[in-house]
Formats: sequence, C-alpha cells, structure tokens
Amino acid sequence: MTILIAGGGIGGLTLALALHARRIPCRVFEAAAEIRPLGVGINLLPHAMRELAALGLEPAIRARAIETREVAFYNRFGQFIFSEPRGRFAGYDWPQYSIHRGHLHEILWEIARERLGPENIISGHRLVASREEGDAVVAGFVDGDTGAPLGEVRGSALVGADGIRSALRAELHPGHDPLIYSGITMWRGVTRWPAYLTGASMIYAGWLETGKVIVYPVQDDIDDEGRQLLNWLCEFYVPPRDPSGDWSRPGRLEDFLWACREMRFDWLDIPAMVAAADDIYEYPMVDKDPLPRWSFGRRTLLGDAAHPMYPRGSNGAGQAILDVAALAGQLAGTADPAAAFRAYEADRLTATAEVVRANRANPPDAILREVFQRTGDAPFDDIDAVIPRAELVALSESYKTIAGFDRASLSGNRV
Ligand SMILES: Cc1cc2nc3c(=O)[nH]c(=O)nc-3n(C[C@H](O)[C@H](O)[C@H](O)COP(=O)(O)OP(=O)(O)OC[C@H]3O[C@@H](n4cnc5c(N)ncnc54)[C@H](O)[C@@H]3O)c2cc1C
Repeated sequence: MTILIAGGGIGGLTLALALHARRIPCRVFEAAAEIRPLGVGINLLPHAMRELAALGLEPAIRARAIETREVAFYNRFGQFIFSEPRGRFAGYDWPQYSIHRGHLHEILWEIARERLGPENIISGHRLVASREEGDAVVAGFVDGDTGAPLGEVRGSALVGADGIRSALRAELHPGHDPLIYSGITMWRGVTRWPAYLTGASMIYAGWLETGKVIVYPVQDDIDDEGRQLLNWLCEFYVPPRDPSGDWSRPGRLEDFLWACREMRFDWLDIPAMVAAADDIYEYPMVDKDPLPRWSFGRRTLLGDAAHPMYPRGSNGAGQAILDVAALAGQLAGTADPAAAFRAYEADRLTATAEVVRANRANPPDAILREVFQRTGDAPFDDIDAVIPRAELVALSESYKTIAGFDRASLSGNRV
C-alpha cells in the first residue's frame, strides 16, 4: 500500500512522518519548486504538540521556537483584562510553542526527506487530476511553475493536503465552493524587537471595531542585541474585497497603522514595533462552509483542504495535525484505505466543522468583544465590575473544549 499525498505543507509532511512511523509507504508531491520560509507566526497548542512529540519532533521544534508561558488580554488603552498560563505552565503534559511558520515547514521538510528519502518528498509537482482504477488511484501532475505536464503516478490511495485552494477538493466537490470573506482583514508581519513582559507572552489588545492586535515572540536572541523576532497582526472590519486566500500578498503600513496608533503601552510600543517590520502581508480572512463529506473511495482530504477555517485560536496547523493522527491511526489498522478514510472522516468531520463555526461566532478572543461591548469602548475602573473572572475563565475554557485542547481531554501518551 503506497499512499500518495498531494501538498507538502504542514499537514502533508506531518502525515508522511506519521505514516512512516507506522511503516506505511507514502510519497509527498508539493507544488512549490523550492521550500521558502513563507508565512509568519504559528502556535502549536498542546494537542498538536502531543502528536508532534510522539513523532520525535519536539527537540527540533524547541530549538527554533519559543515556549509560550501565558496569554494575556488588554483593552486598547492597555488596561489588563485577563491572563492565563499556557502549555506546561498550565499543567499540561505538552508545551505550547510559538514558531515562525517557515521554520516549522523547514523542520518538517528536512526531517521528512531524511526519514523517507528525498525520492519520496518531491517538489515542483502540482496535482491537477486524479481517478480510481480498480484497487489503485492514479494522480496526474504538472510542473508547479510552468504548468508543463509531468505525467501520472499510481498509488493505493490519495490524500489531498493541498491547502485552502485544494485541487483535489475541487475535483471531489465540483461546482460552487467559494471562499467566504469574514468581513475582517488582517495585516501580519514579524519585527526584530526587544522582549516584552515575560519574554514568552502572547498578547491580545483592542477589538475589531477600532482595531485588534495580537503579538507573540517566535524566536529568541536573533541578533547581537539579544532581540526577539515578534510575530504580530492587526485586524479590523473592512468591506467586501477579493477573497483570494493568498497568504503571501504584500500589505502596506498606511492601510492599518491608524488602528493601533494609540497602543503605546509601557511594556510595548505597538505602532513603533509594527512600523519596524521586515515585511508586511495582507490577508482578507476567509473560510469555507463545512463539507458534508471528505472521503470518496480511495481519495480523501486533510487540513485546510478539508476544512479551511479562520486562523484564530491557533488552530489552522493544529487541526491539520489532529487529522493526521486520526488518519494515520486508521490506515495502520487496515489494508483497506477506503474503509480507513471513511472512519477518519467519521472521527474528524464534525469536530472540525465545530471549530470552523466557533471561529466565526465565538473565537478564543471573545473575551475582548465582551469587554468592548460592556464598557462601550471606554476605559474601566475595575475589570471585576465589568465582567467577573469566572465568566472570563468560562469563555476561555469553552473554546478549548471545542478545539480539543482542554486539559481533561488531553492526558496520557499517544501510541
Ligand atoms: C504560504 C503560506 C503561508 C501561511 N502563513 C500562515 C501564517 O502566517 N499563520 C497561520 O496561522 N497560517 C498560515 N498559513 C496557513 C497554515 O499553514 C495552514 O492553515 C495550516 O498549516 C494547515 O496545513 P495544511 O497542510 O492543510 O495547509 P498548508 O500548510 O497551507 O499546505 C498546503 C500545501 O499544499 C501545496 N499545494 C497547493 N496546491 C497544490 C497542488 N495542487 N498539488 C500539490 N501541492 C499543492 C501548497 O504549496 C502548500 O505547501 C499559511 C499557508 C501558506 C500556504
């Protein structure tokens, strides 16, 4: 049984490593000709780290990431609302890491090539078509840059881990399947800057009507001055626009600086920090409605190809990694990939659809929305009079339960 994986992003490469660990042969076909450090920051929550640690990846991740200590929420005037420890600092068996997406991608790419052999982790191959033939699947590829045909490859099954603009998804679900714009646009970047607060704090400030900012460090000691690489994003409501789903579209400082210009806190001057960014990207936040099914015989979908969601709550990569654990577990238990794909779908489809919906309606930073509404966006004297701490804790815990990283559901080692 050889599993073909279209897409060598976070989900596809983790799947290759998980199948290899279970002695299931597989081959990855990635459209990009070369792996470049694309994207900005990503958080790996304890549920995802449980899976990555079981694959022996934690030392490599730890060496290039920051172990997140806490998440803290502020209003746009810099008044403290709520904080909670994260990962091992909150008593979990697994850490939470913040890492540059490009570094995570490089780690997965290099380790996958080492373990599976470069002949099985293939770049420059874009999936364009596939079909079932008896007990096999046939996948057709073109050159990722030129579109020149590269021929067909046979395998026993095909997994589409080809991201938010998945070709396999379009083939399995032809017709209308639009990217849906949330009404919110994010500007994102990374900046070399001195450490703030604990040096490992993820902070949220403000709210969408006036501008919301999220900042967290993704790398320590990046220069002689001992500065960190800070990942940041600024987002607010912007009228309908091109929902391309392109993570690498350049952005302009003048389009969003106004939304954070007052956020000059004692511990971090946010406008100065974002203005000093190396590069800025603009991303109209999109998702898609949950699909009724992912698996069709010997073909299935995984990660953003299956369930594109708003990049909120650190779940884009995390849910793809949870998909991997479920799918690899099913494939290990049977010689029938179609049966494994059905069981994987039964395990993961409803769970991920709930995260898609929670990210729309009640994201993890709904705490900020509550405070914004209850104060009428004015400074407060006493946060306990605005919203009791128990309510803040309940808001935070309910999101963790939906996303599958509450402490109760995360205990014991993965096998
Ligand atoms: C360039 C880029 C930058 C990103 N930046 C961020 C970020 O800063 N923060 C964040 O939270 N999330 C970011 N994301 C999204 C995040 O990586 C995903 O939400 C998450 O990792 C889910 O993983 P995935 O494997 O499903 O998708 P992805 O990690 O997006 O991987 C999909 C892979 O499939 C490849 N591919 C696409 N079409 C084909 C095809 N037809 N055939 C073969 N290969 C194909 C793509 O090149 C890509 O490598 C980014 C994604 C991309 C592609």
